[in-house]
Amino acid sequence: MINFPELEEKILKFWQDKNIFKKTLEKKSVKGPFIFYEGPPTANGKPGIHHVLARAFKDLIPRYKTMQGYFVERKAGWDTHGLPVELEVEKKLKISGKPDIEKFGIEKFNSECKESVWRYQEEWEKLTERIAFWLDLEHPYITYHKDYIETLWWIFKKVHERGLLYQGHKVVPQCPRCGTALSSHEVAQGYKSITEPSVYIKFKVKSGQKIGNFTTNDNTYILSWTTTPWTLPGNVALAVGGDIEYVKVKRFISEWDSNKEAVYDEVILSKKIYNELKADPVSIKAKPFNFGFTKILNGFELPIDYSIEDLQTIEFKGSDLIGVEYEPLFPGAIPESVENYQNAFKVYEADFVTTEDGTGIVHTAVMYGEDDYQLGSQVGLPKHHTVDENGNFQATVKKWAGQFVKDKKVEQGIIEDLKNRNLLFTIEDYTHDYPFCWRCDTPLLYYAKNSWFIKMSALQKDLIKENQKINWIPEHIKEGRFGEWLAQVKDWAISRERYWGTPLPIWQCEQCEEIKVIGSYQELYEETQCPLIQKDDFDPHRPFIDEYKLKCQCGGQMSRVPEVADRWFDSGSMPFAQHHYPFENKEKIESKDYYPADFIAEAIDQTRGWFYTMLAIGVLVERGTSYKNVICLGHINDSEGRKMSKRIGNIIDPMEVINKWGADALRFHLYTVNQPGESKNFDIKNVESAVRKNFIILFNVLNFYQMYQGKSQFIEKQPKIKNVLDEWALAKLNQLTETITKNLDEYNIFSAGRSITDFIDELSTWYLRRSRDRFKGDDQKDKELAMQTLGYCLSILSKLMAPFTPFVAEELYQKLGGQLESAHLESWPKAEKYNENIIKEMDKVRKIVELALAKRDEAGVKVRQPLNQLIVTSEKLSEELVNLIKDEVNVKEVVFEKGETLAVKLDSKLTDELKEEGMYRELVRSINQLRKEENFNITNSARLFYYTDSNYIDKVIEKYKDDLLKNTISIKIKKQFRPDVKGKEITINGEKIWLGIKPWS
Ligand SMILES: [Zn+2]
Ligand SMILES: [Zn+2]
Repeated sequence: MINFPELEEKILKFWQDKNIFKKTLEKKSVKGPFIFYEGPPTANGKPGIHHVLARAFKDLIPRYKTMQGYFVERKAGWDTHGLPVELEVEKKLKISGKPDIEKFGIEKFNSECKESVWRYQEEWEKLTERIAFWLDLEHPYITYHKDYIETLWWIFKKVHERGLLYQGHKVVPQCPRCGTALSSHEVAQGYKSITEPSVYIKFKVKSGQKIGNFTTNDNTYILSWTTTPWTLPGNVALAVGGDIEYVKVKRFISEWDSNKEAVYDEVILSKKIYNELKADPVSIKAKPFNFGFTKILNGFELPIDYSIEDLQTIEFKGSDLIGVEYEPLFPGAIPESVENYQNAFKVYEADFVTTEDGTGIVHTAVMYGEDDYQLGSQVGLPKHHTVDENGNFQATVKKWAGQFVKDKKVEQGIIEDLKNRNLLFTIEDYTHDYPFCWRCDTPLLYYAKNSWFIKMSALQKDLIKENQKINWIPEHIKEGRFGEWLAQVKDWAISRERYWGTPLPIWQCEQCEEIKVIGSYQELYEETQCPLIQKDDFDPHRPFIDEYKLKCQCGGQMSRVPEVADRWFDSGSMPFAQHHYPFENKEKIESKDYYPADFIAEAIDQTRGWFYTMLAIGVLVERGTSYKNVICLGHINDSEGRKMSKRIGNIIDPMEVINKWGADALRFHLYTVNQPGESKNFDIKNVESAVRKNFIILFNVLNFYQMYQGKSQFIEKQPKIKNVLDEWALAKLNQLTETITKNLDEYNIFSAGRSITDFIDELSTWYLRRSRDRFKGDDQKDKELAMQTLGYCLSILSKLMAPFTPFVAEELYQKLGGQLESAHLESWPKAEKYNENIIKEMDKVRKIVELALAKRDEAGVKVRQPLNQLIVTSEKLSEELVNLIKDEVNVKEVVFEKGETLAVKLDSKLTDELKEEGMYRELVRSINQLRKEENFNITNSARLFYYTDSNYIDKVIEKYKDDLLKNTISIKIKKQFRPDVKGKEITINGEKIWLGIKPWS
């Protein structure tokens, strides 16, 4: 078998030596540019099999378009900024968190980051080349380059000028470990289903307040619920729905206290929820409530005659609860000195309250929830942090000061504490999706922070409108995953309180808080007059940039805000930044030919990452969507459908696969295993089968062609047609060209790829099989036509396969003697007109053959045994087609009968003559088998010997002598046992014969 990896290495070298990629770019592009944007990977992690997936798809379309006559620029790019890089460096330096980094020094830290970015560059480049992803790796865009950053500044300024940049005090998902907020598309990547305790808390209402027609007393409580006990010290309000109905329930806790009086409390909750619990007192949901429904309450037995009806209830509206005061759960956690303290610990109305879960009364901690914060801003609640940015309780939360809020022990402690103070109603396990930091796996905290935002919510209409212009593959992403994301688009938290990133070009006055956004280095120079800015080695990164101070109109000093940009801002800006727009290439970027991209491709997780930020930036700079067609690839799992992870140890190293079966096999497998958007369960066995089902068969056909052709001949022009098989093969070939072209124009790589497999199979198992005799035959003219047809099919195939399997196509092209230097310099073939009818008729022929062979099988008659007649219920077929059936089914005659449905009958009676012919055919097969075993090829004529006691065999050999010699490429056959000759004894139809073979010369 061909060693494909070796073959590919040879071709790689050929491409490199001859600069083939460059030559394809230099080719005259009659159709102008086709725009492809490369989504930048981060080179600080090893490339994995999922990267091969994306790169295989990214490579195919540009190759196809280049062959079609377009010029396809393919600038490589590297995503270099951001938290992943910082985390790697922290690991390497064995430091953790912001205080450590600042102690180490930002300058040194960032220079470590810059270096670390290139850790796996070589591996990336090697893999990229090895899988034949033709990409301009010599002139990549690099997101940390100062030119790249300058474009980002220009975009920031544009955003500011449009009034879309603002500083908010907003609740953002904060990673307490990384000490930074995550953007919503980052959060979307890290959800996990977890089970954790949720608590029902009793908020003690101050006594003597009127609610509806009752007055509160020392035992009145409002029930509320939370899944995040750590937010309870930060509670400043309770929220109810004004129109929601509530109920106060009087519960007996025990029969007698020490004063021999019944002990009870009164709890307030939503009437709907209370009734649900009452209707189904044994439900799992109701059980933990212990209203007495289960006759057991907190371990106390209830009076025997106690029943649900004994629970005394009073009903009222949410509006009656508004303004009711309660005692803080953790007195002192919110100091009295905090602004607006007087508004805290009261019931407020809010429209986000529902009766879907919890108690219909919402615990509100303004600093730790988006709804909470909005309510707090509306009604003027104190905004005070009980937790610091690293997720530790502040000093005001005395019991757990300095401890991490999501620590299991701390959570337990809070629950215990409430229980001891009779403020815990109940506790239950609650399973829900909770976001974790996608990088470090720490649970995120919703946390109110100062942050910079881009007001994407104001652009929602434009985003949705632009999305309509995008052709999504698969289609459902448009209105599904992506459309839904846009339907609830949030403002983009653009700032990161980190170090290694594009510094926000925002300067803020220390006195009047006025801001100035700088849009270029020239502008910064004009503001500061610092000559360093104009030097080539000007570094806009932290900490250097932080040194530049501007003057405010008020006379105060302006300093740069400390934050850097979300790295998705970097990658989303690549259409502009990769060409340093608008400082350079202004004409290019502003031309319709460059923007938007015709094609991009990445994995499906980028819908909320790169795909989104690319669209967002395009809309922000008022250029509309930055891409027209996008292939959104499914994830790759292991063969059992499990996510690949270091922990399970099921990560596939792409180089291992490539070294075993070659890059083309891997590419072709990925194109054809299923639709690109579906997730793929990767099994190396399927890569092997891609080799066997495609390349091996293809090269066998090629070998056959070369063996009979004797010389290489690349056939450019469709040959003349005389034979029905040729007509069919050429129709099939033209149909294939048409199918691939149409599908690739629609970015349907899967269907295009599958049609190649089908064609190779039919070329081999039907055309070649049925034409074998023509190739061997004496009719030189017919042989020449068959050769031409086969050669032409292979020649066109080498071009059609070039975008899919660039190595195999090149090898095929070279072996055939293609006229250009490389298959990849060829033009894309155009389908000629073809006879569609012949395809239908041949399908029918093949169906008839299939049915007839099944009948033979049923009757137990070998195919080599000729039979007299096949009766087919069908319209008549042409004589040429009938001859194909006769040959394939091995019958003397095919008779057509009228009828509705296609059916066959086989006459399996054997006459003496048919038996003799069967014997003759068995002999031919045995002799050719012997030829093969003795390594005779088609140019080696043989001298045959045989010996048998069977008169029958003697008779058959005598009768068929001429045909037998011809069909076994032999000159003579003699009845003589020759011990000096290679041979063997066999039994045919019960008759013994010894066969011997010797080269003629
Ligand atoms: Zn983190
Ligand atoms: Zn000022």
